[in-house]
Amino acid sequence: MDFKKLVSHCKEYGFIFQSSEIYDGLSAAYDYGPLGSELKNNIKQYWWKSMVQMHKNIVGIDASIFMHPKTWKASGHVDAFNDPLIDNKDSKKRYRADQLIEGYAEKIEAKILKDVVKAQKRFGDDFDEAQFRSTNNRIIERQAKIDHAINTMNKLLGDGDMEGLKNLIDELEIACPDSGSRNWTEVRQFNLMFSTQLGNIAGEEGKLYLRPETAQGIFVNFLNVQKSTRQKIPFGIAQIGKAFRNEIVARQFIFRMREFEQMEMQFFVRPGEEMKWYDYWKQTRLDWHKALGTPAENLRFHDHDNLAHYANAAVDIEFKFPFGFRELEGIHSRTDFDLSSHQELSGKKLQYFDPELNKNYVPYVVETSIGCDRMFLAQVGQSLQEETVPDASGNDSTRTVMKLHPALSPVKAAILPLVKNKEELVKAATDVFDKVKPHVLCQYDEKDAIGRRYRRQDAIGTPYSITIDFETLENNTVTIRDRDTLEQRRIGIDEIAKEVSDKTNINSLF
Ligand code: ATP
Repeated sequence: MDFKKLVSHCKEYGFIFQSSEIYDGLSAAYDYGPLGSELKNNIKQYWWKSMVQMHKNIVGIDASIFMHPKTWKASGHVDAFNDPLIDNKDSKKRYRADQLIEGYAEKIEAKILKDVVKAQKRFGDDFDEAQFRSTNNRIIERQAKIDHAINTMNKLLGDGDMEGLKNLIDELEIACPDSGSRNWTEVRQFNLMFSTQLGNIAGEEGKLYLRPETAQGIFVNFLNVQKSTRQKIPFGIAQIGKAFRNEIVARQFIFRMREFEQMEMQFFVRPGEEMKWYDYWKQTRLDWHKALGTPAENLRFHDHDNLAHYANAAVDIEFKFPFGFRELEGIHSRTDFDLSSHQELSGKKLQYFDPELNKNYVPYVVETSIGCDRMFLAQVGQSLQEETVPDASGNDSTRTVMKLHPALSPVKAAILPLVKNKEELVKAATDVFDKVKPHVLCQYDEKDAIGRRYRRQDAIGTPYSITIDFETLENNTVTIRDRDTLEQRRIGIDEIAKEVSDKTNINSLF
């Protein structure tokens, strides 16, 4: 579905609102509405259960957002958590230098794709894309331009060479997307951490940061958790919580926000065994996404060309968002970087005694890190569809339907009296609602014709609509309508709770 429509659908139905909208909003901050908070909770529950409940060697914690300022010195965030920033002097717009260069490469790639599509049409079934790409001169030339831009950029980013990045932007003749001007400032490093001040201590001493990732709360608690739970390596610690980043360019709705929520798990392993676990978690996390019915072609791995200061291997699980493939989750082999730095700066040992090896060591870490909000956008983006279905009289009609996995759907069952002006029906429907509500989240709706009410439930992804009609009064049965197949069956009132719970339970995903 068109991205603008998706955003307005989220607002109209109470999934997501712009933060502080009555004051014209605060950019890159969003509020989850009644349905959005249910969907987000279901995503978190699916992640938490699959990590903590399904693994006897993973436990959860909930650390505070504020941490001792030395944490961020040790983790490298004070010195190295920067984005290269550049301003256009004419439009006064601010950009990330790497994103400008990537935008340049994407434009050329779009031209290549156009040629590929044209050739595909011309050659029909005999078309071999790989051969075409490797022999067509125009494409070879364009691909070389892309490779030059991206490879040079990666090298410059790796070297922290800001002057080189500015020269590259000039060399590629990149213009401001807003004004078309090439009048750029120098490129500067910009630290992404938000800071705030402790009330009772003045100056640098009292400077606190809002955590830019949840992981550090896990690292500093490594021994507390290990000792209190008597876990043996390999074991993991999971956490869900808010993180904050002062993103330079925050756009694309909830894809890039300044306040967002992460679901992270740090898995502590023996040094030397990290690649085995890295492969294990790559596959396990991909399977987690696929279990929701996400088609394989919407997901792909992307190895990092540019490793972060703490990693010896890193891969993204990318998802095909409405604006193209982008990072949804990261799997990183973080070595012993974090624990060793905390050990050094705090002067406290963060080691594990391995009884099998009979020695102490600082464990290595493989982490899985996914943004809850990006996962939300991925699920809504992929499941929100417009389709043609037969209406009550058999004619074609268009419906907007959110085909979420039933385990994620905010409302599991709609309870609908066929008409609202018959007291017996309303009473029977209210009784059904009361009977089913302890088991699953239900919505009672009696307004408008039944067809319109079904459409409203389709639009919010409710998997089952239960209609209470005159036959209900005679034999205690109702119709249950399936959102996806539109099939309607009669079942007994006493069967509703079990039927809907079984089919919408998170456990059905394991
Ligand atoms: P990007 O390259 O998109 O900035 P990143 O590589 O900095 O992301 P990580 O530090 O690996 O991201 O963070 C782990 C996960 O947290 C990401 O995969 C993403 O889902 C989520 N995330 C990171 N930054 C944001 C943000 N500004 N808004 C929403 N989610 C985010």
